[in-house]
Amino acid sequence: MASASFDTARRERRADPSSLDAIEKAPEVRPEAMAATGRTSLVGLTRFALTERLAAIGVPEREQRMRSGQLWHWINVRGAASFEAMTNVGKGLKAQLAEAYTLDRPEVVSEQVSRDGTRKWLLRMPPTGRHDHNRGAEIECVYIPANDRGTLCVSSQVGCTLTCSFCHTGTQRLVRNLSAQEITAQLVVARDRLGDWPGQTPPKGTFVPVDGSRFVSNIVFMGMGEPLYNVDNVIDAIGVMSDHEGLGLSRRRITVSTSGVVPHFERLGIDANAMLAISLHAVRDDLRDELVPLNRKYPIRTLLDACRNYPGVSNARRITFEYVMLKGVNDSDAEARELVRLLKGIPAKINLIPFNPWPGSRYECSDWERIERFSEIVFNAGYASPVRTPRGRDILAACGQLKSETEKLRARARLMLEDGIGAEGVYAAAADD
Ligand code: SAH
Ligand code: SF4
Repeated sequence: MASASFDTARRERRADPSSLDAIEKAPEVRPEAMAATGRTSLVGLTRFALTERLAAIGVPEREQRMRSGQLWHWINVRGAASFEAMTNVGKGLKAQLAEAYTLDRPEVVSEQVSRDGTRKWLLRMPPTGRHDHNRGAEIECVYIPANDRGTLCVSSQVGCTLTCSFCHTGTQRLVRNLSAQEITAQLVVARDRLGDWPGQTPPKGTFVPVDGSRFVSNIVFMGMGEPLYNVDNVIDAIGVMSDHEGLGLSRRRITVSTSGVVPHFERLGIDANAMLAISLHAVRDDLRDELVPLNRKYPIRTLLDACRNYPGVSNARRITFEYVMLKGVNDSDAEARELVRLLKGIPAKINLIPFNPWPGSRYECSDWERIERFSEIVFNAGYASPVRTPRGRDILAACGQLKSETEKLRARARLMLEDGIGAEGVYAAAADD
């Protein structure tokens, strides 16, 4: 209850942005590589960065390509967690590597498993300096298993600078970009936890695909953050995750979801060749301005024109349009018909997402009959219109519910301070969760 009133209060304060500046609540910050001191990890680096690390410890130029190829294989194909395991790397180099670097992954602070097999991990990234006050940062990452695929929902930022009115992540205060390494490391952690490296088996009771697919077969950038506000790192991370001689995911199984940062569509299409998903959520600018404030910069028409021009878009590579179902807000028959009209001529899939409530949210999810009726109109117009089954709701792992524990704790701490309760109370409350 307490955190509900806190969040509501924050919502009210930012609900009425009167200028474009109010769309983003904090300046973007970029982390400087990984930890500023001590040994840094080689996990999740691009090939280029890995070669640079070898040069930095004096590996001669003529050997760098071969050595970085070996390391790349151990890290990304075998999932090696120690240099010791690298049988084809000489003793001397192994010792040198261990002195300068680690193969550490981000720390798994907690793992929650939903009744439906969805897993949510809270990961702590090492400090990057002043951007995270030298405290490191926490992000969430969610694994959603099905019979024929395993989808990992990754974060691209800590929090989000945008303030979509229905999204929990948008209320988080600490915001910074994740590095390409930090983005990729989420996949490495998932493979560790699921036993998804060669020769491993999943821990007992873990729900993974049953059709022989890799346990993580798909990636969606639908966790915390706006991926296209961190486009360089997202493109680099996609490069590492899709390397055929490495982590090996198909680019067609990597989907980047954006609230509509139009100027970066072209780069994403050309440099990452990833699938695009658009968080549309409304068919009129006045309503979309309210739900997705970035619409004031890139209104619906501009957004849809950019979709028509998305590199590589075709019937085989359709753009997904996400539409969150908000009771009495955007869910009428007329809006369903308008949605179909707007998307005419764009190779599109429409994904209806039942709104996932979070403490303090001011919307309700549309009734099931309403969602079915909306879906029927869309379907009759020729679109497959799957309603995304909410997964992991019991562990707040569903779309738009991600917000790191420290933030929640901080919010609670503030409330309790306001209520005159001391720190002991805060920890007691956290332990109850
Ligand atoms: N920032 C990107 C990607 C992360 S959000 C984006 O906005 O597209 C991933 C998806 O979850 C988006 O479609 C977003 O609109 C949706 N979403 C956010 N909050 C939600 C909520 N409470 N319930 C359902 N979907 C939500
Ligand atoms: Fe950010 Fe996406 Fe949430 Fe909007 S919906 S606040 S863009 S994470």
